[in-house]
Amino acid sequence: MFQLPVVAAAALAEYPLNPEVQQQVVLMSAARAKKEAVQKVDEGDYTTASQLLQTARKQVLAAPASPLMEQEAIALIDLDRDLQRRQVQQFRKMSHYQSHSISRSFSQSTYHDYQVQRSQRYRGQNLPDDLRGRIEVIQGDITKQRVDAIVNATDNYLSGSGGVDAAIHRAAGSELKKECEQIHRCETGEAKITRGYNLPARWVIHTVGPVWQGGHQGEDQILAQCYRNCLMLAEQYSIKTIAFPAISTGLRGFPSDWASRIACSQVKIFLQRNSAIEKVVFVCFEQRDFDCYLNSV
Ligand code: ADP
Repeated sequence: MFQLPVVAAAALAEYPLNPEVQQQVVLMSAARAKKEAVQKVDEGDYTTASQLLQTARKQVLAAPASPLMEQEAIALIDLDRDLQRRQVQQFRKMSHYQSHSISRSFSQSTYHDYQVQRSQRYRGQNLPDDLRGRIEVIQGDITKQRVDAIVNATDNYLSGSGGVDAAIHRAAGSELKKECEQIHRCETGEAKITRGYNLPARWVIHTVGPVWQGGHQGEDQILAQCYRNCLMLAEQYSIKTIAFPAISTGLRGFPSDWASRIACSQVKIFLQRNSAIEKVVFVCFEQRDFDCYLNSV
């Protein structure tokens, strides 16, 4: 006969939740926080409203990553910004609209779909002989990659905040923050290396991508420099396998199709001249970037 063990309530709380369930719980709690924030705004209590949104954002960022969760975190930041600016009409309208669109997109795009998408992988099978199998494009989370080094798209202060930078710091743990504080600064286009701590990757190579300003401020040369400097550092540290995110295509606003062409051409040139690095994996978080890399590689 099938028997279930009896588990005390405290022990139950420690049971690992399925990631999809964790996301659902966090999204429901974010929706509740938004509703309560609207009530607080109606009562004129902007401080509590803002605190509710900030707590919800932290919970979303701590949940298993997926494009939908990232979208929700950004939505919460936008709402808080409207609140700070006292754009109350806009805040009400957006929070109402978001509760509908998020619940709709969760039913359409669940963590399970995300896992299925994650298995999308291009293994460089039809590249020229000297590059065949040495460049991969996947859709997924860079923090999960089993490679010697992952690249982090950070800022000049290696602050660990926002986008892929925050995801890497969350997964690596607080020791990474301490080592970054010792480095102190990384110029735009440069690269610095630290250990990976709790990450599956042994090393993290941090680089600062250019902010897109319309394309006439040397942004493409700086982005190319990021890739070259990361690869040179990897070679110095005898790193054989390295994963890159789509540097600068998030908060820095670089168009994905243009960024992916620069990334692919720099990596190809480097690998053709250096056989020490065996494999480069482009890890695209979003479908849009994945499609661009497939077109560019
Ligand atoms: P930047 O400031 O260089 O634009 P962002 O972190 O905002 O850096 O975005 C860079 C890219 O990293 C974006 O394409 C974003 O979708 C992607 N990204 C965010 N989180 C992850 C992750 N966990 N794994 C891989 N890529 C990620």
